[in-house]
Parts: sequence; C-alpha cells; structure tokens
Amino acid sequence: MFEKILIANRGEIALRVIRACREMGIKSVAVHSTADADAMHVRMADESVCIGPNSSAESYLSIPAIVSACEITGAEAIHPGYGFLSENANFVQVLEDHGITFIGPTAEHIRIMGDKITAKETAKALGIPVVPGSEGGVPDVATALKTAEGIGYPVIIKATAGGGGRGMKVARDASELEVAFRTARSEAKAAFGNDEVYIEKYLQKPRHIEIQVFGDGKGKAVHLGERDCSLQRRHQKVFEEAPGPIITPEQRARIGKICADAVAKINYIGAGTIEFLFEDGEFYFIEMNTRLQVEHPVTEAIFGVDLVREQIRVAAGLPMSFGQDDLVINGHAIEVRINAEKIPEFAPRPGTVKVFHAPGGLGVRMDSALYGGYRIPPYYDSLIGKLIVHGRDRPEALARLSRALGELIIDGVETTVPLFHALLEQEDIQTGSYNIHWLEKWLAATYG
Ligand code: ADP
Repeated sequence: MFEKILIANRGEIALRVIRACREMGIKSVAVHSTADADAMHVRMADESVCIGPNSSAESYLSIPAIVSACEITGAEAIHPGYGFLSENANFVQVLEDHGITFIGPTAEHIRIMGDKITAKETAKALGIPVVPGSEGGVPDVATALKTAEGIGYPVIIKATAGGGGRGMKVARDASELEVAFRTARSEAKAAFGNDEVYIEKYLQKPRHIEIQVFGDGKGKAVHLGERDCSLQRRHQKVFEEAPGPIITPEQRARIGKICADAVAKINYIGAGTIEFLFEDGEFYFIEMNTRLQVEHPVTEAIFGVDLVREQIRVAAGLPMSFGQDDLVINGHAIEVRINAEKIPEFAPRPGTVKVFHAPGGLGVRMDSALYGGYRIPPYYDSLIGKLIVHGRDRPEALARLSRALGELIIDGVETTVPLFHALLEQEDIQTGSYNIHWLEKWLAATYG
C-alpha cells in the first residue's frame, strides 16, 4: 500500500480523499493556490505545498507544479478528484514517466472516452446501447440533411470534443437543420478548437440515468446500480438520487450487467460512470466519465461501500474488496448540491461565511470544506457543499432531507439552499416524476 498520496484538487473532494487516506493509515499531501492558503483541505492534510497563484491554469492545472510537489514530498500516488486534471490523458502519461501512480484509469482509457465519437463507437462495439445517429463525424450540410432524414426529426447536433453541455443544437425539422449545423460547428470551434460535429436522434423527455462501474484492471468489474440525475439546469446536475425512482430491478440488472461486462472486457481500472438517457424503458449511451463523480456519495450510501478507499486499493494493485453478489441495495439516498449562488439567476456569490453549522443525526452526511470565517475565493467553481441523506425508503429520505436542510446554517453568503426547500414542496419531486427538462420548466414558471 502507498505511504503517501498527493491530492491534486481542492474543496470538499480534497477532504473526501484525505479522510479515506487517514482511515487507511496513508499520509496525505494537499496542494493549493495562493488564494487557498487558508482552505480547509490545507489544514486537514498532513502536509501541504503551494503550487501557484490564484488562477487554476497556473495552479490546480499546472502539471509541472504538481509533479514537483510530488517529488518534494515523496508522494507515490496522486488522486485527482473530479474536474481539473482528472480526465487529462497527458497528465496520466507524465505521471507514468515520473514513476508516480495515478489513482484512476489508464491514459488510453481516458483518451478513448474523452472523444465523443470514439467513445460512442467503443460503447457500441462493447454491446452498450447508444442513441441512433450518424456514423462518426458529419462533414457538411448535405450529409447532415441526409443523415437527419435517415434518423428522423428532431435531431441534435453535438460537438465531438464537447463537454459541459456546450456545442449542442437541436433541429426540429429540415428547415432548422442548416442553421443548427453551422451554429453548432462554429460554437464547437470557438469552445474546443475543433469543429467536428455528429448527429443524434433528439430524445424528447428522457431521464438522465448513470451507471456506476468499478474495475480491478485485471478483467474483473462490477456495477453499483444507477443514479438518477435528471434534475439539471443548463445540463448541470443539482439534485441526484439512488436508486432511480422509476428503474425496475430487472432494468437495473440488465443495463448494469452490460456495463460491468463492457468495462471488464477492456480491463478498466477504478471508478467510472456510464451515462445514459432513459426513455420508454430503453437506455441510450451518451458518454462515460473516467473518474469519481461529484454525486458518488448516494451510491456509497445505498451500498455501504467507500469508493475512494476502493480506488486507492486497486491503484496499489490490491483486489477489489467486493464482488457483484456483495452489492445489495439498502434504502434510498439523495444528494443536493449547495452552491454559493443567488437564485433564481444562479449567479455566483463568493464572499465570507460568517457562521457555518452542518446538520447531523441519523442518515445525514455533509461533505463541505466550509468553516466559520472562511472566505470563498471567486476563482473556482461555486460548489461549497453537498448534503447527502439516506433513509430506509424514498419518503424517509425526502423527510430527512427536509429536516437536515432546516438545520443547516450558512450565514454571510447566498446559497442554493432555498431552491431545495421549494423543490421538496413540489408534488412531482415527492413522487419522482421528472425528466431532464423538468427543472428548467419549473424555474421558468416559478421565477419567470
Ligand atoms: P456534455 O459532455 O457536454 O455534458 P452530454 O453528451 O453528456 O454532453 O449531454 C449533456 C446533456 O445534453 C444530457 O444530459 C441531456 O440533457 C442533453 N442531451 C445530450 N444528447 C441528447 C439527445 N440525443 N437527446 C436529448 N438530449 C440530449
């Protein structure tokens, strides 16, 4: 096992990894920008290294600075968290060249899944159902028109290099296609420096269902069921739950096995998430994330496992500590993302937290790097905490969420907490009847 791990991240996810290290008797190294000198992850780690100025590009994304921090402290492995360098194949390659273990998949697996067309082709070849669409990239309007005709309208044009919900355009009929095609291409060029696009059938009322997978890198893999992350704003998740309110045990077993078999076949190592749109009982692959997800705690809650500990174990060459038969769902879990944002605009509101009081009690987990007096820097994303509740069933989890939100105090900055109080009052949330468009429609109807 490793003696020392460096965490190339900040905020709640850095604490999450430090906690796993401490329970495993592993020393932790925090890295930080100058803006984060007083951050909780720096205080909680065994050691810390300042790796650069405020901007992410010069600190949390600086590969030379992070590798140097590893060499100075003697850390043998790096946990990337999510975001930043977690899906950067080049970073993984550089670490390999320096004899540092990356706690995550291989550079090759990251590369395959990073390019959407290659990812989709790979998924298809591995037996994973995909959204009907073009074979690879679509070079011009004439081909786009022909392809869309074949698929049937509406269609969505997506950037091969896309991410964060950008570079996507919907065309409802042939008259909209040319403009949508050209706009998607120029947006893709501007955002990703690559104007290749592809076309898919546009699903009208799907849910976002993602399957958690885990592999040992030696041909063994399991699935840990699904998370329903359909409550999104601008393709950003705000509320996630497991199990999915409308997924049957048969559907879970079927898609779970397909995903586990697929990642086993490619000797995938560590945690991964295969994302689907789910409509009329069918799953359609959209992408795979080759890292730990923000919403992993809901899966941990219902299966009683520690996914970070497991990531560290397999990276050190140890076997997985559970097999498929050990993974039995217990109850229901919900996570809400607490951002330092003003609703309904969701405008970032960094500032100083005067008082922070985390909720507690049975079935409540608060993952946050806040403390009273903490100054939230304006340079990074606005997630300041995740509240996760676990109950015997969905109604109990909802009641617990309401109770826990009532106990939470974050004074001094505006947060998304009032949104969750309001959502819990909605009948559709209480019954679990929502799709990927529900939240935006409700926001528009409620706040105009
Ligand atoms: P990104 O990597 O930019 O997040 P994804 O491919 O994961 O892009 O898609 C993000 C979101 O866009 C999905 O969660 C869904 O809301 C919407 N979307 C993507 N593809 C389709 C599709 N074929 N039909 C309907 N909605 C889609």
